[in-house]
Amino acid sequence: MTRTVEGPIHRYTYRDAHTRARQLANALRALNVKLGDRIATLAWNTYRHFEVYYAVSGIGAITHTLNPRLHPSQLTYIVNHAEDSWIFVDLNLVPLVEAVADDIPSVRGVVVMTDKANMPDTSLANAICYEELVEGHADDFEWPEFDENTASSLCYTSGTTGNPKGALYSHRSTIIHAYGSALPDVLHLGENEVVLPVVPMFHVNAWGIPYGATMTGAKLVFPGAGLDGASVHELLATEGVTMTAGVPTVWLNLLNHWRETGTRAQSLKRVIIGGSACPESMIRAFQDEFGAEVRHAWGMTEMSPLGTVSIPKPSMTDPDGRMRKQVKQGRAVFGVQMRIVDDDGREVPHDGEAFGELQVRGPWITSGYFKHDQSEAHDHDGWFATGDVSTMDADGYMEVTDRAKDVIKSGGEWISSIEIENHAMSHPDVAQAAVIGLPHPKWDERPLLIVVPAKGKTPTHADMTAFLEDKVAKWWLPDDTVLTDELPLGATGKVLKAQLREQFGDHTFPETRS
Ligand code: AMP
Repeated sequence: MTRTVEGPIHRYTYRDAHTRARQLANALRALNVKLGDRIATLAWNTYRHFEVYYAVSGIGAITHTLNPRLHPSQLTYIVNHAEDSWIFVDLNLVPLVEAVADDIPSVRGVVVMTDKANMPDTSLANAICYEELVEGHADDFEWPEFDENTASSLCYTSGTTGNPKGALYSHRSTIIHAYGSALPDVLHLGENEVVLPVVPMFHVNAWGIPYGATMTGAKLVFPGAGLDGASVHELLATEGVTMTAGVPTVWLNLLNHWRETGTRAQSLKRVIIGGSACPESMIRAFQDEFGAEVRHAWGMTEMSPLGTVSIPKPSMTDPDGRMRKQVKQGRAVFGVQMRIVDDDGREVPHDGEAFGELQVRGPWITSGYFKHDQSEAHDHDGWFATGDVSTMDADGYMEVTDRAKDVIKSGGEWISSIEIENHAMSHPDVAQAAVIGLPHPKWDERPLLIVVPAKGKTPTHADMTAFLEDKVAKWWLPDDTVLTDELPLGATGKVLKAQLREQFGDHTFPETRS
């Protein structure tokens, strides 16, 4: 089921989807698309996007998903780097392609994902209507056989520093990841599940849900372009959704909507939250106020993306102890190996305290970036360096304390910004919080707490210090608190700390103010 970009609801079966994917496969052949060609999509989660996934990869070409939230200059860079030959674009994203059309010479044409009646007036030279393209072709198609290591899809990393790099997935890695994702203690997919991926198909293949759901026969509910709280709620409630997945920022909107309207989604059993650390306050809200279990998950574009899921073990019966596990990123999905190493490359003890860089290895961890030397991603043992700083406890639960580049070093010791943010967000006057390190004459760096207050509230630094005092070590307490209207978010919903460091770079801490 899809809420289409045009507006109406669309429903069909997996059998119908298969028929149309075969028609589209014939159409792609007619457009002269060959094995290994990159076919881009610039699209929301819809049934047409789903068909493109299967038709493009099914003929041995590569589905290259583009993120519509990227700046046009980044889109241009990515399309040119990938040398995409066609772009499939959603109706309301056509202007994005028009804006860069003169700068992407490899693109032979654009397919607008709508029917004839809704085709827009466009300045694009070679614009084809999706429905006309599909309908013009027969549905008998023999899927070709090729090596399982053939590339099937491509997604560029968010690239907050430097140019984005393309993580390439193979048919093999995609299938094995789908098996892993379907496991009961991972996404728990199956015929009795109704799954609404809020997480976009344009970023890491919506965490693999379009594959795992199809493999297991779960019903898919695609939200199209409507990702605000009210729209997501409507689909959750009317389609009997049992599981949904997305980054923390989208859930703030849904929780606000539920609280303001006094509604909830009765059928919802599980919410998978990842992409950024899920604060304890959000876990409590879903579980205690709205009756849905939160599964905190961690992964990366380069990991297809699932790496860990945090579910307390049945033997952990104490509610506070369970919560302490849920705020961690969790245990490895079977197939993913993890190790945490210090600056000298030695593994740190699994005591939940010792920090180090997290490295991963496994069948769905990318073997290299598109058009880059493989050694850029791996050391000689095949371990991939995640760039996340983390700890591992004796029960095998991994906890991310920071992105390596966001780490705060005070007096030679690391302070976890994520942990402070997590606590700060459980203050009733705080809607969102971010902690960054700013230069300090004595300690090198000290933490600054940046708070987006809850509606009508104005928490002070003294309030926040008093609140945090018994929750973190004394020397972790932020040196100052500033209020702001909103946090800058990147194209995948993560807080842009580099931008915050720029924005608040001139801030002086009280004790150093003259
Ligand atoms: P991306 O490749 O854009 O999906 O970003 C991957 C990065 O997001 C990871 O390396 C982490 O830094 C961060 N990340 C993903 N999930 C979580 C999580 N549950 N908690 C904290 N950070 C996360």
